[in-house]
Amino acid sequence: MHILFASSEAHPLIKTGGLADISASLPDALKRLKQDVRLVLPAYLSVKAALKTRRVVQDLDIPGAHGKVSILEGILPGTRVPLYLIDCPPYFDRAGDPYRATDGRDWQDNHLRFGLFNRVLVKIALGQAGLDWTPGIVHCNDWQTGLAPALLSLYKGRPPTVFTVHNLAYQGLFPLHVVDDLMLPPELLGFHQGLEFHHHISFIKGGLAYADRITTVSPTYAREIRSQQFGYGLEGLLNHRAHDLSGILNGVDYRHWDPARDEHLVRNYDANDLRGKAACKEDLQTHFGLHVRADVPLFANIGRMVEQKGIDLILAAFGRLLREQEIQLVILGNGERRFEQAVRQLAQAFPRQVGVHVGYDEGLAHRIEAGADFFLMPSRFEPCGLNQMYSLRYGTLPIVHRTGGLADTVVDTHPGSFEDGSATGFVFEPPTTEALLGRIHEALALWRDHGIRDRLIGQGMRQDFGWDISARRYLDLYESLR
Ligand code: ADP
Repeated sequence: MHILFASSEAHPLIKTGGLADISASLPDALKRLKQDVRLVLPAYLSVKAALKTRRVVQDLDIPGAHGKVSILEGILPGTRVPLYLIDCPPYFDRAGDPYRATDGRDWQDNHLRFGLFNRVLVKIALGQAGLDWTPGIVHCNDWQTGLAPALLSLYKGRPPTVFTVHNLAYQGLFPLHVVDDLMLPPELLGFHQGLEFHHHISFIKGGLAYADRITTVSPTYAREIRSQQFGYGLEGLLNHRAHDLSGILNGVDYRHWDPARDEHLVRNYDANDLRGKAACKEDLQTHFGLHVRADVPLFANIGRMVEQKGIDLILAAFGRLLREQEIQLVILGNGERRFEQAVRQLAQAFPRQVGVHVGYDEGLAHRIEAGADFFLMPSRFEPCGLNQMYSLRYGTLPIVHRTGGLADTVVDTHPGSFEDGSATGFVFEPPTTEALLGRIHEALALWRDHGIRDRLIGQGMRQDFGWDISARRYLDLYESLR
């Protein structure tokens, strides 16, 4: 099957979050299932710098674009997936991440940047981009690709479209007047079924209203986004489209995330021999200047420092816990300044107990997954979440809020689940400091019993969230649309 997979980021070329992991590992998994899948990304400056082998395959004439547009071709590093890059230097040759300038503010012309990206997607989908390949399916991801299903809906004989929501909180909303800049046809502008959303143009609505199928990245999140609490005003549309909406759990790429062969670790390990994990804990404690002690429980968190992820709950809970108990905490992440400052302050207050790295560091993320005893994910909502699945494989017990993909991947420990061997971590609700603290206390009590600890770790490490099953589900979905 010819599948065009469109995304705004893909590991290892450009990454701000889980979308990048999935945009690399799902196409790779589909390729392994012998599908002709091709990935398309904007040609950001850093991507062009990272991708040494590439060539221009086509120059395009896109009316209204503020510069020359061309399609470059290469291969996604570490895979055999062909890659198209949409190059338009005035839009994509910039420092900063895909969406924000270095000062942390959104690029003011994001609607034009991603508008152009979508218009080129449409040309590729319709076989009008001068490539010697046309897709039989177009799979779009998140708001950055949401206009393509809407624009494509206007053409007869177009390929079917799938739109995956990785996070409904990010919608690509722009003032209504961008309609002219984007040259959007009036028939796409209605409120109930069109792109308009409370006096804005909503890119994500393009995907939600017009794609032939909608998926999201876990079954629980697929249900949650149909409710007022998680739907951001889009729940009406999502309920209207309930028959076309499903949840397919993200997979883990165990070639990158497996402690038995992870190159970032001081020592590898597996479920049969955890001595390497002890070495990784020592490495982590040393790195952050913490007391090097095996008997002190080490908690960790990695992720974007925003309210969604519950970083404020961690700060509040550990502000108390660190005074009461001999425990350690390591945090890696960046995001809102107020949270970055607060975690730095916590590290200053408890220098031998708290280690903080504000920034983005892929290698350190692996070392933290391996070296920690507990991984905290108190997200208020979590479409899928990857770190809890990484934690399971690394023998690091996840403590998660019961929501979205966290609820679908971590089995809470209670007498029944412990006995039948299904328990893999600790689940709490509601997302409050009190509930988090309560579950941490219970988790610590069990962890101090080595027999219980080893059994839970072993159960977690044996879980398999690889892509085999999920990639086949996507393939079934594509096939149902042919
Ligand atoms: P989201 O996509 O909402 O940010 P996910 O859990 O789905 O969250 O995916 C986040 C991915 O990004 C994981 O692979 C995680 O390890 C990684 N990550 C997030 N922040 C950092 C950071 N500061 N340094 C290194 N990796 C990070």
